[in-house]
Amino acid sequence: MKDISMEKIVNLCKQYGFVFPGSEIYDGFANTWDFGPVGVELKNNIKRAWWKRFVQEDMNTYGVDAAILMNPRVWEASGHVASFSDPKMDCKKCKQRFRADNLIEEHSNGKVAAEAMSNEQMQDYINDNHIVCPNCGGFDWSEIKQFKLMFETSRGTVEGNKDAVYLRPETCQGEYVNFLNVQRTMRAKLPFAIAQIGKSFRNEITPGNFLFRTIEFEQMELQKFCKEQDSMVFYEDYKKRALEFIEDLGLSSDKLRYHDHDKLAHYAKAACDIQYKFPIGWEELNGIHHRGTWDLSRHGEFSGKKMEYQDPETNEKYIPNVIEYSIGADRLTLAILCEAYEEEQLENDTREVMHFHPAVAPYKAAILPLVKKYHKDKAEEVYQMFSKSFMTTYDETGSIGKRYRRQDVIGTPYCITIDDETLNNGTVTIRDRDTMKQITLSLNDAINYIKEKIEF
Ligand code: ATP
Repeated sequence: MKDISMEKIVNLCKQYGFVFPGSEIYDGFANTWDFGPVGVELKNNIKRAWWKRFVQEDMNTYGVDAAILMNPRVWEASGHVASFSDPKMDCKKCKQRFRADNLIEEHSNGKVAAEAMSNEQMQDYINDNHIVCPNCGGFDWSEIKQFKLMFETSRGTVEGNKDAVYLRPETCQGEYVNFLNVQRTMRAKLPFAIAQIGKSFRNEITPGNFLFRTIEFEQMELQKFCKEQDSMVFYEDYKKRALEFIEDLGLSSDKLRYHDHDKLAHYAKAACDIQYKFPIGWEELNGIHHRGTWDLSRHGEFSGKKMEYQDPETNEKYIPNVIEYSIGADRLTLAILCEAYEEEQLENDTREVMHFHPAVAPYKAAILPLVKKYHKDKAEEVYQMFSKSFMTTYDETGSIGKRYRRQDVIGTPYCITIDDETLNNGTVTIRDRDTMKQITLSLNDAINYIKEKIEF
């Protein structure tokens, strides 16, 4: 199967109601995207699958939904106010802005780990290797400067008397600050995790590549709190579970790989990304980080509250270690869109088809009256019946063949044709998206058949 280009996926998403450019009637707003009727279902299903796998099916994981705007002290404690920035360089010729580390990584095909370099080392590397501007080919760079990535807003009712407030750049701080609340109210014993899905905001230097890097995005994250001696076991466990999850959603293993970090934050014991082979190349899809006791210690220091756990058996008090697993919902949606797409050559025709796992497919069934004049009323009745169990769509326009094609391209796994047989003996024909084979079932059996197939 040929890999799809980013341009093709963007156009397909716009054309079929997956994703539209943000504020499009005002000529858009760079690097913002709105999920349309089809895309919102896909992304919601991906989030639901993640929640089911990592919260619902894990006895020791608790969900939260923390506020986006947090006390600014949170971001002092986390280190973001002081150092959440990227090394930026401007091309003086065409005025385009780049991340110095990305320029080096791209130039060396990922062989040089720029993340481990200082600004001076990066500047020297770029000069010594004569790395030119990818946009205009010029070689007239500004000095590397650190570029702040947090969006700042202000709070205050009196003009001129405003306090700086930040849009959270990551969701995990909402989990750390609720460590004591969750532990107490859920009577949680170590090891346990706190999970959350929510929006984050980053003033990225080089946003782009559609949903890959945006300034507003959703993260699905969990923090596992555990004893130090168990921490590496959980780190390895989440590496494994994170990979299994995305493979189960349909990402092929030959397009996935682990990438262990060379440079670790001073408090970190280990860090690894899982990379996916996007149309733009191998890029991070999610991260698994061993954060030691850093986050809880810092919040303890800055808030004055003891972020400790008391061992119920030994009565010993200590700050737990944290393993973090974090994956972008939008980035995963993009990976799934790229993976699922196929332009399939049929005997006398081609068709575009999205082979989504049925659990994440936007609509599970499409109800199609064979002849509108005769079968519309029954089809509407069937729609009401099916839509009580799962997302169902209805289409009465155009030939049945064209209607199948439209469902193929939005990835609907089952098309239900309503015909004379449905009127006379209550059976329907179910067409499978991938094999295009048809079977006949009673209405109730058809609902149960689909329910089984969409399990994750
Ligand atoms: P990158 O190196 O790509 O900037 P990161 O290492 O800063 O990512 P984390 O802070 O570990 O990313 O965030 C966890 C996950 O959140 C990432 O693996 C990615 O899936 C997602 N993510 C991070 N930044 C963005 C963004 N600007 N747009 C979309 N998703 C993002």
